[in-house]
Amino acid sequence: MLTDVKSHTAEELEAEFKALGQPRYRVSQLLDWLYNRRVTDWEAMMNLPNSLREQLRSRHTLHSLELVRKQGVRNATQKFLWRLSDHALIETVLLPASPALYGEPSDRHTLCISTQVGCVYGCKFCASGLDGWRRNLGIEEIVDQVLAVERWNATEQAGAGGGGASQASSSRLVSNLVIMGMGEPLANYTNLLQALRVLNAPWGGGIGARKITISTCGLAPQIRKLADEPYQFRLAISLHGATDEIRNKIMPVNRKHPLRELTAACEYYRQHKQRMVTLEYILIAGVNDGSEQIKPLAALARRLKAKVNLIPYNKVDGLPWERPTEAEQDAFFNALEKEKVKATLRREKGHDIDAACGQLRLKIERELAGQAR
Ligand code: SAH
Repeated sequence: MLTDVKSHTAEELEAEFKALGQPRYRVSQLLDWLYNRRVTDWEAMMNLPNSLREQLRSRHTLHSLELVRKQGVRNATQKFLWRLSDHALIETVLLPASPALYGEPSDRHTLCISTQVGCVYGCKFCASGLDGWRRNLGIEEIVDQVLAVERWNATEQAGAGGGGASQASSSRLVSNLVIMGMGEPLANYTNLLQALRVLNAPWGGGIGARKITISTCGLAPQIRKLADEPYQFRLAISLHGATDEIRNKIMPVNRKHPLRELTAACEYYRQHKQRMVTLEYILIAGVNDGSEQIKPLAALARRLKAKVNLIPYNKVDGLPWERPTEAEQDAFFNALEKEKVKATLRREKGHDIDAACGQLRLKIERELAGQAR
């Protein structure tokens, strides 16, 4: 089976080119076409000899994502729906330039990327798992979410007279990554890690490891595995409940990896990386926003030296869950602060564009299914 050219590191390509009797500088030329100019076909790689292009074509695919729909306007949250080569749909969300929520402050953009089509973990409140599980994303499908958004941006800028296509195409838009789109990143561990190697490398996406946040619903063994890798990625835990009783109710994964196991894995991560873990906590009215969650949540945050990100729940069509009122959200936040926990209350930016993960895909798939009927 052919591998995609964007699923390989520079070192792997160097070994391959060496075996083909090609000089090393050809690899640099190829990488420049792929990651600076972000071309989508072999023909465009003008300075590579025809014979080499043919050789590459016979050994690798060069897949790129096809834009199906974009929601949102410039300078606000923008959401991209892509079609993959097998026609599956995935989403990527571009957050506006603002102080970064994850990673260092930045005037550049954070991109939220998907790692799977659908999800098996079945968190009760989430749209991603509603239509079940399809498959893992390939390495290049993860990588190309960044390139495709930058490609789109370059075209837009060129169209708006913003400096011409060639200049725009080499400018990097995305400086921070959050792996919080559709799917469970740590369940697609091998592909995710290789994609992040490519996106992190100076010859590739050029995104610093400290600016990459991986979010998980709580796969404790993979958190430990990640801690042993030589990368300083940030870790976010989708906690959403500070007791096993609540987590069991809304996140089936907790039955497999209960809080005790999850907390120990987070501590392991923190000790190995010297990095603060973030606890994500969506506030769902009458489900996990009661005052009895405050003490256990504060205890957990203190033990992990973690920051708590409170996120009002984004309503999902077909699910009964609601967000609490703003007064109730504030009360929860204030109670946490009183416990001396570092917390933020993030009033959702993407509420108007179906930004909760999996929502746009679900909507469009249902529309398409409706049209087919
Ligand atoms: N599977 C990973 C990453 C994808 S989900 C994880 O669970 O962390 C990204 C985040 O969005 C998670 O914290 C998830 O719980 C949250 N989320 C899912 N549905 C949501 C909704 N309707 N409103 C707000 N946040 C939601």
